[in-house]
Amino acid sequence: MRKKIVAGNWKMNKSFEEAKELVGELVYSEYNNDVEMIIIPPALYVSELIGLVSDSDIKVGVQNSSNKESGAFTGELSASMVNSVGANYGVVGHSERREYFGEQNDILAQKVSQLLTHNITPIYCCGEVLEDRENENHFALVKSQIVEGLFHLSDQELLKCVVAYEPVWAIGTGVTASSSQAQEMHSFVRDVLAENYGNEVAQNISILYGGSCKPSNAKELFACTDVDGGLIGGASLVAKDFVAIANSF
Ligand code: PEP
Repeated sequence: MRKKIVAGNWKMNKSFEEAKELVGELVYSEYNNDVEMIIIPPALYVSELIGLVSDSDIKVGVQNSSNKESGAFTGELSASMVNSVGANYGVVGHSERREYFGEQNDILAQKVSQLLTHNITPIYCCGEVLEDRENENHFALVKSQIVEGLFHLSDQELLKCVVAYEPVWAIGTGVTASSSQAQEMHSFVRDVLAENYGNEVAQNISILYGGSCKPSNAKELFACTDVDGGLIGGASLVAKDFVAIANSF
């Protein structure tokens, strides 16, 4: 059985006070208990927020971490540090990291390995820009992101990963992929994984959809066979919306 997951990527939003307030609301909310709820706040708040969710099932992740183990890398955050404060998940290769910070698949592959070494579950992001889709290059592009970012892993390592398909044209735009576009790509990603790791492994990987997912469209997206939940940006900043999404399975 694949895990159903809703992961809220807060990006660079919320003051510390606002962050604690949002977590306070989430902790007292009711949502499907077979859903893994993950919050992914700015790294500065992670340690404190882990304390605030400790009596709940909510898990905490980081938005980015280093491909290096430790040392003179000013401003970076290592996977070992992420583990040492008790976080459970790490996003790798979000499109904003790829676009604004020049992160490429080879470095992202190293980040995935670093997280796994330190028992953090990577949430590996892939997804095409609009131009790729218009040029019908979207399948090839996503395949290369999967192959180059994940195929260095063993079966056992891959089984510890989550994949997020996030069409870049849908992130923060209000335009959502249709459920058939999402299902088509999720099923393609699973096939790509199956080609290398076999069907049994591929069937056990949770693949999340991300891109303007909100309470009004989550149900339809999550009903797709190969959509196992969502990586949620904007809607994760409002407790009632995030909880409504978690209750959309
Ligand atoms: C994201 O940044 O991962 C995301 C999906 O953002 P939004 O939900 O705001 O489109």
